Amino acid sequence: MKRFALLGETLGHSLSPALHKAIYRQLEIDDASYRVVELEAHQLSSFFTGFRVGGFDGVNITLPHKATVIPMLDEVDSKAKLINAVNCINRVNNKLTGYNTDLLGFAYSLRQQGVNIEDKTFAVLGAGGGAQAVAAVLAEGNAKEIFILNRSAERAASVKENIEKLNADVVASIVSDKEFSDHAKSVDVIVNTTSLGMSPDTKETPINKSVFHSNMLAFDIVYNPRQTRFLKEAQTQGAATANGIQMLVAQAVFSVEIWMGGNIVTHIDMNALTRDIEKVLK
Ligand code: NDP
Repeated sequence: MKRFALLGETLGHSLSPALHKAIYRQLEIDDASYRVVELEAHQLSSFFTGFRVGGFDGVNITLPHKATVIPMLDEVDSKAKLINAVNCINRVNNKLTGYNTDLLGFAYSLRQQGVNIEDKTFAVLGAGGGAQAVAAVLAEGNAKEIFILNRSAERAASVKENIEKLNADVVASIVSDKEFSDHAKSVDVIVNTTSLGMSPDTKETPINKSVFHSNMLAFDIVYNPRQTRFLKEAQTQGAATANGIQMLVAQAVFSVEIWMGGNIVTHIDMNALTRDIEKVLK
């Protein structure tokens, strides 16, 4: 029996067990389990002592431990290290390696929306772990320009710095909401990576609806609710929209690829998985 888990602090409403079970069902894997493990930061070190020698074959990591676990690993994928966020750990021969599959999930979902990153202009709202993953994908994909908007200046500066480390040709600028309103017309894709609008605070939104326009894709990495206020307002302004469910599904499938090997994403029915999760969210 292969044993996997999601590690985080408050996981009562997590979709991950249902999602992973749906993946195993599709792959006809009946000897794998996936559960949640709620831990506070001070409990991580003793958990990892046990994890290294057995217990679980792999774990996903969620808030607030994506950075805290890094010093407890033997190896960390270079991009996960750069953005200081690990959301997937694989154990092989008692050696722990960390990865970031949020990056892969976002890149997958953007491709499915038909977006070719190269030479496009993006706006990234937020500068947390999700934003770092999104910005890294855009930098690697040769975006033309990336506007970064965030409440805390320090975290915005870290996103800009990482974009420049990954690709010096990408123009990255930190802008205020007011400054951004002058540039919004040139933006092809606006990505919300803040937690604003996430259930239960669904009345919140990160930006004034006047920035949306009909030649824009508004992508919200928040997946609960499926239609955030950000997406509803983008729609009323004629923008195309995408929510975070496909990214969530894809990051889980890429985790399973890391744990079990093989090219699963092209062999699995991703739409059926997305529908499974949408049913759970109803
Ligand atoms: P973090 O806590 O790392 O970052 C949160 C971001 O939201 C920061 O930029 C923070 O700003 C901003 N923010 C929070 N509250 C406010 C507020 N009141 N006013 C202004 N800004 C605010 O979280 P993550 O990046 O990990 O996750 C963010 C969201 O993305 C969550 O809803 C999460 O569920 C979702 N997500 C979805 C994924 C998917 O697969 N679809 C994958 C990863 C995340 P500041 O820096 O100033 O604090």
